[in-house]
Amino acid sequence: MTFISDGPITKAGDLAQLVSPSNKIYTVRLTPGGKLQTHRGVLDFDNLIGLAWGSQVVSHLGSTFFLLPPALGSLLQETRRNTQIMYPKDIGFVLVNMGIGPGMHVIEAGTGSGAMTTALAWTVGETGHVYTYEVRSEFQNLARKNLDRLGLADRVTLQLKDIIDGFEEIGVDALFLDLPNPYDYMSQVRQALKPGGFFGCILPTMNQVARLLPILHLNQFAFVDVCEIILRYYKSNPQRLRPTDRMVAHTGYLIFARPITMITPLAEDNASVDPDVDQSEDD
Ligand code: SAH
Repeated sequence: MTFISDGPITKAGDLAQLVSPSNKIYTVRLTPGGKLQTHRGVLDFDNLIGLAWGSQVVSHLGSTFFLLPPALGSLLQETRRNTQIMYPKDIGFVLVNMGIGPGMHVIEAGTGSGAMTTALAWTVGETGHVYTYEVRSEFQNLARKNLDRLGLADRVTLQLKDIIDGFEEIGVDALFLDLPNPYDYMSQVRQALKPGGFFGCILPTMNQVARLLPILHLNQFAFVDVCEIILRYYKSNPQRLRPTDRMVAHTGYLIFARPITMITPLAEDNASVDPDVDQSEDD
């Protein structure tokens, strides 16, 4: 299945967004014979296939819509949810910091509504794979629907399992946890993650972070980083350029660490990374 357009012109099967005059976004798959019904009129997909991306198109009632290729961030915001989901600002940093890219094999728990799963599946590409664990079948079912809608389901194995019983895969490149008690599963994580791989998790409170840190060291994780991502939007009116009135102040703390194998005991300096020290000058 075409997952997303890779050319200047829309093709049958592409995922597309139609943006209304009031900036309402409709995400659709451009299947031949398909239609989008809105209160501003109907758009016939046969008229949209083969057009240049960015075109303005007109509904049968005369309303104009823009035809645009979707960004991952926009698709994540539309994730149907029955759990808390991760925010794009956190997801974006996790992906780059854990080096997630095409061809990688990644474990994730819990699946929840599948927002993070979607981002991982998008980023590992056709040659990579995501194994995602969830204990509650109703959440897993919704995540499966979210992945199906975007054509990403064949990059993902959905496991209905409590991770206390361990992971079925061994030697994955990266492992990410979004659940309340990661400190209870670090020996399972070590068994599944390849030495030198990437571990990451998100936690809403400092209490949970403080509980995790000693367990990471006990399980021979090094290069531990704790951070949070603060994002502020601005009103884009050129005459009144200023921050928006409200912002999301807190989502979660991000913790990253690398499983290592040691011959000599871990030097204090390597146990955690102090961002105030320029690492390049250490040697
Ligand atoms: N990252 C997800 C949200 C995860 S919500 C998203 O972006 O959509 C946390 C999920 O972890 C919940 O669905 C919960 O059922 C699941 N969970 C909690 N403990 C678990 C465990 N031990 N094993 C597997 N899943 C677990």
